[in-house]
Amino acid sequence: MEKVFKIGNRSFTLDQDKAEEAFAAKKVINGRKTEAFNLLPLKYTWAYDIYRDMKANHWEPEDIQMQKDIEQWQGSDLSDSDRWIIRMGIGYFSAAEGIVGDNIIHVVRELVTAPELKLVLGRHAHEENVHADSLLYMISSLGINPHECEAMFEQIPTIKKKNEFVTRVSHELRRDADMTDPVNKKKFARDIFLFGQCMEGTQFYGLFGMILSLYRQNKFPGIGQMFQYTLRDESNHIKLLRHLFLELIRENPEIWTEDFKEELVQTMIEAIALEKEFIADCLPVSSVGLSDADFCSYIDYIADRRLEGVGLRQLNPGIQNPFPWLAETMDIKKEANFFEQRVTEYQKSSSLASVSDDEL
Ligand code: FE
Ligand code: MN
Repeated sequence: MEKVFKIGNRSFTLDQDKAEEAFAAKKVINGRKTEAFNLLPLKYTWAYDIYRDMKANHWEPEDIQMQKDIEQWQGSDLSDSDRWIIRMGIGYFSAAEGIVGDNIIHVVRELVTAPELKLVLGRHAHEENVHADSLLYMISSLGINPHECEAMFEQIPTIKKKNEFVTRVSHELRRDADMTDPVNKKKFARDIFLFGQCMEGTQFYGLFGMILSLYRQNKFPGIGQMFQYTLRDESNHIKLLRHLFLELIRENPEIWTEDFKEELVQTMIEAIALEKEFIADCLPVSSVGLSDADFCSYIDYIADRRLEGVGLRQLNPGIQNPFPWLAETMDIKKEANFFEQRVTEYQKSSSLASVSDDEL
């Protein structure tokens, strides 16, 4: 029996019995292993939807003007703490983006079995490449010595500790982990929670907030814009890893014990503590309206949103966002700027491509 399946504006005719069999064999982990990329029939439609959102947001660093940033960097109007925040931003993210991409490609994308999950995770890793590339673009535009960034990663203890905190979990899960073992299932769930909710979801937000505060004061408009686009991508990564986590738990409910939930909450507590130490390093003096205490409560607020999102207990129930303006700066969909043009072009060319695919 044949049936028509619809995905977006495309439709596909599939043999019903075979489709149901293939559908049943799709799982987050321990599903059918196949070399062919059998996307159809889609089981995890949310994954494909996120993939489509991601490609509609495509951007390239060179599309952003750095002239004003260069003038400001070389001029005398900036304070030392403004420059320090930018250096910390470039120093931390240069390593962090790579660490996330590495975990997605070598751990998460390897261990999941459904092709639509591999598809969206491939895009996720690519976006980390774009972010890493945007940092190269900032470093070369401002004329910062690249060895200085590497030195920051090695020598600033709060950056080192944040990075070690995530890599020690991902290194336990390299290829060939037996995913039928509940111990490994928990490690995998913890990895996805750690990277999506603790690192990208919480530990990225201290610097995001600081750099966007500078941007709001018309400092570093090019860098600010790149971080806005990066942040928009990160929101999709957090969402993707949140869905993946929830789906993994749904399919493997035996790991969702009270002990395991508490282990995850403790992981978030550790992430928050590391982030607060890091914030103190970024803001050694309360400058340009940025206070260390406000950033710390911002992190508490963000962390609770992440815990809530995956059904875990909150640490500061009822906490208010100390930076309501930041939510607005972060929501760039509302903003009209030169870049909208380019985003539309990417969307247009992709929908044209899909029309011609259908006609073939
Ligand atoms: Fe990133
Ligand atoms: Mn990311």
